Amino acid sequence: MSYQVLARKWRPRSFKEMAGQSHVLKTLINALDNDRLHHAYLFTGTRGVGKTSIARILARCLNCEEGVSSEPCGKCSACIEIEEGRFIDLIEVDAASRTKVEDTRELLDNVQYAPSRGRYKVYLIDEVHMLSGHSFNALLKTLEEPPPHVKFLLATTDPQKLPVTVLSRCLQFSLKNLSPEMIMNHLKFILEQEKIEFEEGALWQIGRAAKGSVRDALTLLDQAISFCDGPLTDAEIGSFLGTIDQNILYQLVDALIAEDAQAILELINTVSAQAPDFASILEALLSYLHRVAVAQVVPEGLDNSQGDKKQILEHAAAMPAENVQLYYQIALKGREDLPFAVDDRSGIEMTLLRMLAFTPRGVPNKPAVALTKTGDSETSSETVSSTAGAEAEAEKKKVTRNH
Ligand SMILES: [Zn+2]
Repeated sequence: MSYQVLARKWRPRSFKEMAGQSHVLKTLINALDNDRLHHAYLFTGTRGVGKTSIARILARCLNCEEGVSSEPCGKCSACIEIEEGRFIDLIEVDAASRTKVEDTRELLDNVQYAPSRGRYKVYLIDEVHMLSGHSFNALLKTLEEPPPHVKFLLATTDPQKLPVTVLSRCLQFSLKNLSPEMIMNHLKFILEQEKIEFEEGALWQIGRAAKGSVRDALTLLDQAISFCDGPLTDAEIGSFLGTIDQNILYQLVDALIAEDAQAILELINTVSAQAPDFASILEALLSYLHRVAVAQVVPEGLDNSQGDKKQILEHAAAMPAENVQLYYQIALKGREDLPFAVDDRSGIEMTLLRMLAFTPRGVPNKPAVALTKTGDSETSSETVSSTAGAEAEAEKKKVTRNH
């Protein structure tokens, strides 16, 4: 069997299978179950959040042979034909490719005729804001006096471009971007069904990278599966996305708290092996420190939408608020200065070491051993001694490593 991309294979077939958008679904389900249907719906939201998926499910709900309900049977020929995209009374139009008024007229000429198979003739017009002014006028006439057997489902990423006359005749639903947590849970469900092994952190990374779009998340997941060719691990997804592995970020903050310069340099060394996008480290650190600072003042306001609630609460308790502010400020400045550094890596290292140097109670001691000139950062980092608190332990480590 040929490979089907995940976004198509896992396109939701019922409202229950939809990821997120519960506020929209609830309204639609109530309308369907209580037979209070409007003749025109407008779904707005950024790409890949489920606009056309909801519209197609709605088309099934309206035309299922078992009757109008929020739970179409999925087995009758109407349900199956809609899923396969060959139901004669579901007319799908991509307005981006049919902007001319003749196209719209031709389309709307048939509105008056009764549906040939289903209960309703459903017009699904995607990217409806692309229609020309004349096309909108043609559409408007039909929206003003729609025949009872017709439903319009309009979808757009840009509702601002729709004439108010059209907007006012539609029930409008704005779909929200999904949180990384919602996307993570959705991907988890799919991978479990697909029997593909994964580390949860890897899915959080994809969830964050998808920036709210389920479709983007599934496309990334497809690519990640071929990239990893095996279990999806945190580290591999990190190098695939070019983002910093969240665990490394936690360890960096741990090292800042412990004022352990050696650990910091070792972590940067690890990162340099997997993700060459050093700027993303400061970005990730900035947004993390921001959440830590918020957690310190309003711990109950912290959600787990980024999957890091536990870590943040721990770090928030372990760091004085002024240190968080100081690190944030230094990271912000370091990001600004990055283009002036000799290279990104040294820029990041200096920024992080500056955080330690300016930490109120912990200036790192002078190196106990002279720096070697091997150029290998791992050996040179080992000669940097740790701060007073962790010194004894660092000494011990050095001894064991030298043997
Ligand atoms: Zn059905």
